[in-house]
Amino acid sequence: MLPQEKRILLPQDLKTVKTLEEYRGTGGLAGLQKARSLGPQQAIDVVKQSGLRGRGGAGFPVGVKWQTVYDDPSTTKYVVCNGAEGEPGTYKDRYLISKNPYWVLEGMLIAAHAMKAPAAIIGTKKKFTHPVERLQKAVAEFEAAGAAPRGFLEIVLGPDDYLFGEEKALLEVIDGYDAMPRNLPPFYVGIRATPTERNPTLVNNVESMSHLPNIFARGPEWFRSFGTKDTPGTMMITLSGDVKRPGIYELPTGLTLRQLLYDIGGGPAGDEPFKAVFSGVSNAVILPEAFDTVMDFGSLRAAGAGLGSGGFMVYDASHCMVKVALMFSSFLAESSCGQCIPCKRGCRVITGHLDNLESNRGSREDLDNIFYESGHCTDQTRCFLPQQEAKVITSIIQAFPEDFKRHAQGLRCPLTRQPVLPRIEYFDEATSRFIYENKQSVVLSRP
Ligand code: SF4
Repeated sequence: MLPQEKRILLPQDLKTVKTLEEYRGTGGLAGLQKARSLGPQQAIDVVKQSGLRGRGGAGFPVGVKWQTVYDDPSTTKYVVCNGAEGEPGTYKDRYLISKNPYWVLEGMLIAAHAMKAPAAIIGTKKKFTHPVERLQKAVAEFEAAGAAPRGFLEIVLGPDDYLFGEEKALLEVIDGYDAMPRNLPPFYVGIRATPTERNPTLVNNVESMSHLPNIFARGPEWFRSFGTKDTPGTMMITLSGDVKRPGIYELPTGLTLRQLLYDIGGGPAGDEPFKAVFSGVSNAVILPEAFDTVMDFGSLRAAGAGLGSGGFMVYDASHCMVKVALMFSSFLAESSCGQCIPCKRGCRVITGHLDNLESNRGSREDLDNIFYESGHCTDQTRCFLPQQEAKVITSIIQAFPEDFKRHAQGLRCPLTRQPVLPRIEYFDEATSRFIYENKQSVVLSRP
């Protein structure tokens, strides 16, 4: 274990927690017992006091979310755990579940107690076979031990779609539909709603839920003793790309990006220096001059980027950022579900302009049009996918004008290396290497 690592969620020895009995032996289920000794409002107050912020990407205060759902006058509320991890460069939820599926299930039971929910459902991808097997076995153990009523904890398996991880699309899948974001937010219209019952639903992701047992068992002050005031606790970080030591690390928030890249990641993997870092495909690029920024939600947002779901993708100076922008844009355009015309059209048009530039068929006009489309693809949309596209692509163009100028002028680009979008299929712990999915097509509408 590196000196910077602090493990709350991952086992100290990184050995897999194999049974509920073993889990109990390390203090498991104490948090649930404590939560059940409290009334719902008291339980919500504990979460508020902990300062826990959602680990799914937005960093919204979890206690505030709980209070909103709890205060709704509807009689039935549900709890849903978002386990449909699909952000490129992120593998932490699957890793966490594979190591110890009991944290997340105990967290779901705590949340269900606070919401007085009749069921708690985790939505995850059918293709995540090992984590799903671990969850299924753990649910059976919870039921056999009497920790959860039979059928109370449900596992819903869904498609391998990026949008499945969007919470309004997640609820659609749980309700038996395609992964296409609905209009109204979960805290207003939840799952299994009827014309007369809205069923507001609390949605937290795997890592957020997994923190709950320790917050209740050891107290909110203990949790706040880790990390920063802005983002208390630890965070699961996935580090991929051109670093010597890629991997999955549990770190207290508050380390700088430089510490992550050099002390933990070991510095550049090859001879080239770092050129750009991305925290997923939904935030602006982070440049080397910002590497001293503290890794918490507030600091990275203030620096114009974001913490996202803690997945950092690193590209060194051997990469042309026109290629990187085309790769990101193509992924997002391919992921658009097409319900909203500005998104469906705009994302593809942006990809088309980038393709023109990358293949040296473009001009300055393509760049102007990308900025124009970025301002319009976000009009009246159901989810934030086009906002992500606009933010990440325009930030890359602004940060690397020389790369784009070269392509816009039709000059030969010396940076021929093909970038990889780290859609992670598997993490090989023995070698600390990621295995990536092998699919990346270019989706475009040629201007
Ligand atoms: S904004 Fe795009 S991805 Fe989101 S619902 Fe609309 S069309 Fe689908």
